[in-house]
Formats: sequence, structure tokens, C-alpha cells
Amino acid sequence: MLTAGKPSEFDADAPEGVSAFLALGGNLGDREAVFRDALRRLRENGFAVDAVSSFYETAPVGCEPGAPAFYNAVVRGKWAGSPEALLKLCLKLEAEAGRPPDHPHWHSRTLDLDLILFGDRVICTETLTVPHPHAHERLFVMVPLAEIAPEIVFPVLYKSASAILRSLECRGEEMPRPVVKLFPETSAE
Ligand code: AMP
Repeated sequence: MLTAGKPSEFDADAPEGVSAFLALGGNLGDREAVFRDALRRLRENGFAVDAVSSFYETAPVGCEPGAPAFYNAVVRGKWAGSPEALLKLCLKLEAEAGRPPDHPHWHSRTLDLDLILFGDRVICTETLTVPHPHAHERLFVMVPLAEIAPEIVFPVLYKSASAILRSLECRGEEMPRPVVKLFPETSAE
């Protein structure tokens, strides 16, 4: 909502930046340490983290046989640059965590960072689709997202995170299990 005299968090020119949500996933190495490190590196690179979900453990889907369980989480922060620059940072941090650039889809990985929402922007280019095209289909994204921002509305779908989550719960799939709660003071909307 726009407030007179004060730039909206959705305003790309807002000096404090746009509110963006990133999803973290990974199932190799010390998963908690990888996530903590990714949060630290995001902050160091200008992503001003203001809410972090619990870390959830999720059974691997579609991975190679015997793949370890994933950790998943969602982080919200303010970003003063472009969405493309934020994606570039995500790819850089994935590479730093040891993920090769030609890593196949649906395979074990140390760190996957996806841009889920960038304010209320709708982006569809060769390299970036926002809202993330699969976020609303994935319990491992929607459970942590609804934990920190149940009221956030997905552009295009015009549905809140909690409403999307309710529709996914009807599918009867195994729910992600919270295993680490990092910042209780920032997990509420
Ligand atoms: P994946 O490894 O499956 O997460 O795919 C990464 C690639 O997907 C990146 O190189 C991006 O160019 C592309 N991509 C498109 N939209 C997004 C998004 N919203 N978040 C992250 N990657 C995206």
C-alpha cells in the first residue's frame, strides 16, 4: 500500500530497497551450516535480511536413489538493486557453496537459492521468471513462506501464501518438518 510521502516497499526506487523472498534448499554436507553461511553471505552482499523461516527437513523428490533429505527455508530481505542482480548474487552464492554451474535439475546439491517474489513485480525473461514459476506448487517453499509471511499475495495468482498452502495441503503429501528455528524474533510477520 502506498503511503503519502513514504516510498512503498514495492517501489523499485524506494531507498531502502524492495522486499524480496528467497527460497533455500540443499541436501549435501552440513545442511544447517550451509544455510547459516548463505544467510551471512546474503547480508554481506547487500541483501538486508529481516525474516528467516525455520529450517525444514523434506524428503527428496525426484532425486537419485538414496539421496539425503533436504533442508528448506525461506528468507525475506530488502534489496536495493535490480532483480537480475539479486539472481546473480544467488548464483554466485550457490557456486561458492560448491555447486557446479552445469548441475542437473532434480539432483542432490549443497545449495539452491531461488528468487520467489520481488515486491509485486512480474518478470518473464530468458533467465528470470518471478514469481518463481514452481513456488506455488511446492510444499517445501510454501510452508516456510507462509510461516514468515502468511498474508503476502502472489501477483498473477492473486492468492496469499496461506491460501496457496491450504490448497496444497489437500494433496495429502508428507509435510516438511521444522528442525531448526534460528531467529524466533523475526519469524512472525
Ligand atoms: P535451478 O538450478 O533449477 O534453480 O535453475 C537455475 C536457473 O533458473 C538460473 O540460472 C536462472 O536463470 C533460472 N531462473 C529463472 N527464474 C528463476 C528464479 N525466479 N529464481 C532462480 N532461478 C531462476
